[in-house]
Amino acid sequence: MTETAKAGLYIHIPFCLKKCGYCSFYSVASNQAIPEFLNAIIREMSFYRNLFYSFDTIYLGGGTPSLLTIGQINAILDAAVKAFHVEPSAEITVEANPGDLSDDYLKALKAAGVNRLNIGIQSFDDRILNFLGRRHTAREARAAFDAVRTAGFSNVGLDLIYGVSGQTVALWRRDLRLAIGLAPEHLSCYSLSLERATPLYRRYQRSGLHLPSEKQALDFFLATSRTLTDSGYLHYEVSNYARLETFRSRHNMKYWRHISYLGLGPAAHSFHLGRRWWNKADLDGYLRNLRDDQTPQEAEETLSPGQLALETLFLSLRTQEGIDLEAFRKRYGYDLLIEKKDAVNRLIASGKLKLDAGHLRPTIAGMAIADSLALI
Ligand code: SF4
Repeated sequence: MTETAKAGLYIHIPFCLKKCGYCSFYSVASNQAIPEFLNAIIREMSFYRNLFYSFDTIYLGGGTPSLLTIGQINAILDAAVKAFHVEPSAEITVEANPGDLSDDYLKALKAAGVNRLNIGIQSFDDRILNFLGRRHTAREARAAFDAVRTAGFSNVGLDLIYGVSGQTVALWRRDLRLAIGLAPEHLSCYSLSLERATPLYRRYQRSGLHLPSEKQALDFFLATSRTLTDSGYLHYEVSNYARLETFRSRHNMKYWRHISYLGLGPAAHSFHLGRRWWNKADLDGYLRNLRDDQTPQEAEETLSPGQLALETLFLSLRTQEGIDLEAFRKRYGYDLLIEKKDAVNRLIASGKLKLDAGHLRPTIAGMAIADSLALI
């Protein structure tokens, strides 16, 4: 946790035109409540004026933030600037669906101060897009990317998904090559996961389809890392790649570095000074609370130093940056190289971890099993 670092502001826009079959993010398939939602978000900001002072990232995620009109996005950003100190150089990201990005919309987004777009392309293969229930085609995705560049955005991320039933590593490499051909500044490549209570989960259960085996999942992961790093991308977190260090997602880095962030909107999570709290994943309840001037928080927890240390391990070992051993020792009174000597040495010997410039870092093979590295 770096208390002197500026915090990040996340705003969850919980609206989608339709739900994609695999999605477990909280959103509703309707945009009727958007006007009331805007009032609620602005009211929610006022609760945190004295707790959070300065932000240097704003991230509009969802859901589908690109369903908002430019007037609505301006209203949110203006309210944030009035409620808090937002650094003039803040990274301001909007997640966007390729089908929503007309030339005029993009120009106006840029004029509103948005300087980073994250586009949910997911695949350049229409069969896969159809399987996932996305509402755009591969052609629309490519056209959207061209339009984004024409509008002058120079920091653009693409989200892609792999491991879809029937997809081979060769087909996935084709998706990656098409993405590389567009030269985005950032790529997030996620393995499809089957979340309970999604239509896709039920479909897999009914049809007996399977996700890739552990070995196949590893093949996808390694093919992703190799293909993208061979093309000059930095593999800086398990699922994230940047063309240069400066194009790493400044906002998401806060999550992995345990830097404070404030999440507003239904289902949003916040973290500050060792305390974590989260809002109800229920739009109606959220709106009702804010109408009554009440907090929409569902629960909170205060992490003990031991829990914070474990989380730091867990989050840092997902990133190429790894753990700053001296900073960890100072903060938690715990020298990993002494206390966990055998486990660390074993993981170094097996090529999962490496020691480098005072940091314990995961190798690519280590990133592939990042979730279990923290259990050292
Ligand atoms: S994947 Fe994105 S667009 Fe699809 S339902 Fe989930 S939040 Fe909405």
